[in-house]
Amino acid sequence: MELDRDSLRTDSWLVAAGRTDEPGDPLNVPIVAASNFVAGGPRAYARDHGTPSWSALEDLVGGLERGRSVVFSSGMAAVSAVFEMLPAGATIVLPNDCYHGVHELAAHGSERGLWRLSSLEVDDTDAWIDAAGRSDLIWLESPSNPLLTVADLEAICAAPRLPGSILAVDNTFATPLNQQPLSLGADVSMQSATKFIGGHSDLLTGVLTTRSDALLGRLSAVRERSGAIPGMLEVFLALRGVRTMALRLDRAQMTAATLARRLEQHDSVGTVRYPGLPSHPTHEIAEAQLGGFGSIISFDVVGDADATDRVCRAIRLIRHATSLGGVESTMERRAATPGQEHLPPSLVRLSVGIEDPEDLWRDLDHALGASRR
Ligand SMILES: *Cc1c(COP(=O)(O)O)cnc(C)c1O
Repeated sequence: MELDRDSLRTDSWLVAAGRTDEPGDPLNVPIVAASNFVAGGPRAYARDHGTPSWSALEDLVGGLERGRSVVFSSGMAAVSAVFEMLPAGATIVLPNDCYHGVHELAAHGSERGLWRLSSLEVDDTDAWIDAAGRSDLIWLESPSNPLLTVADLEAICAAPRLPGSILAVDNTFATPLNQQPLSLGADVSMQSATKFIGGHSDLLTGVLTTRSDALLGRLSAVRERSGAIPGMLEVFLALRGVRTMALRLDRAQMTAATLARRLEQHDSVGTVRYPGLPSHPTHEIAEAQLGGFGSIISFDVVGDADATDRVCRAIRLIRHATSLGGVESTMERRAATPGQEHLPPSLVRLSVGIEDPEDLWRDLDHALGASRR
């Protein structure tokens, strides 16, 4: 039996990818603690040529995203590598609702006169198609953070573009299990592997994947120049974590669907945003485009910021913390995060983990009672 990507289904690929077959080799991809290698082989220096364990993670994620990958020190290091490739004076278009770090990076460069920046509503497909024809970088994020709006990636990717432009998709919320942007026509797919790939909130790592040899070479060259390399322990943990990603995501998104439906009926909850709910503004695109609706839910607590903070402090099993994609559920009031003050003050983002769904619901239902005190 062949163990290549085309011969294996995704769940098997997650477990089998990146391992060697040599008798006597360790079953797991070892931590390779080496900055340099014996001369004459394919690798000389780790920052230039990577290590065998980086390559294992790159093979694995590349197979999931259906391209070839470069691993970085964090999701933001990966994003920065894409921006670093832009020519002076480039035009960039970003979603209005997108990861705040990406907005900050883009705004900082625009303030320094490096590029010209504009932003669009995630679901304004016509505006994206129009912008694609005159932008050097089309940066998409879908589903978006934290409003979970789904962009019509296929339509936007099919739009006529400037020669040499790059269309990149932040695929962190969907994960490569629910969405493969390269198959929809994107040039680059980006993952903060800090989230679902690692899955245990114990590392930061980022990955870029492309089908273009030219882009792959340029992205590797950016990593080499910038030094934004992954740590050896982080790569080991990411490989260990990703083996169970399909199980974790299946469970978490099943629970998220249940919680989203119940939250929608709850007296202390206003709007619930979850792409799997028929009430979600981009539910139809989500159904057509995503393999699953994911495990992130945003909702408004009835009441002001203080009432919402009381709810966040009252949760127990769900941890009051930022970030997402871990085995443990986390929840926070997003407008309390620096750079997110524009969001509705009582909007909460919940990342559903793999705990028992009924325990999670008891915790949420009980904590929501605190909004009325
Ligand atoms: C976390 C995150 C990032 C940034 O990744 P880091 O690993 O924290 O640098 C980018 N995009 C999205 C959607 C994220 O959730």
